[in-house]
Amino acid sequence: MKKKKIAFVCDFDGTITDDDFFAYTTKAYFDEQALDPWRAFLAGQKTHFRALKEMFSQIRVSVAELQKTIDSIFVDPDLEATWRLCRNKNISLYVCSAGNDYYIRRLLGDLLEKYNVCLVSNAGKYSPETGLVMTAPEETYPYYDAETGISKKSVVEKLKEDGFFVVFAGDGPPDVAPAELADVVFAKKFLLKACREKGIKTEKFESFRDILNYFKEL
Ligand SMILES: [Mg+2]
Repeated sequence: MKKKKIAFVCDFDGTITDDDFFAYTTKAYFDEQALDPWRAFLAGQKTHFRALKEMFSQIRVSVAELQKTIDSIFVDPDLEATWRLCRNKNISLYVCSAGNDYYIRRLLGDLLEKYNVCLVSNAGKYSPETGLVMTAPEETYPYYDAETGISKKSVVEKLKEDGFFVVFAGDGPPDVAPAELADVVFAKKFLLKACREKGIKTEKFESFRDILNYFKEL
């Protein structure tokens, strides 16, 4: 049998890191009220994009202060070993985030380049005057989605169309649709619960060590 091409598509917030970026900024700068847009999203009153955009725009600290908070975010220590192994095995790498690239590039910029990881995300720009401004791609962008800005589902869909075997890892609400399409799913938190409810098979996923071991065997 001809060996299939493989892609590894990974969420950022809460999957590569231990918690969402807005949880870190809320803890650092705000009280619980700052999470009102997120609660409105969970209640179906706001899009995911709108909720994140509102929360990010509240941040008004100095650039240095925000960068300090970003640098304090926990990144899974086995991420790099996993990406290195994948590149050695010719596995295509994607990070798909319904957050934005401002904090992702600050944390992972060098690694994305080193391992040729394709980042699909909304754009983020920061100044203390405007807050962290999140912009969705143009509607003509092939992975555009009105609900989340970028569509992880479309990324997985395209890879499947192109003949890839897709391994997906995620934790949040925007990860449910891509998990339904992926061949193998590593799920945590909200996504794990949703996969159980929908009868989607998932792999053990406590940390990237589990993903690393999976790719070693693949
Ligand atoms: Mg997430």
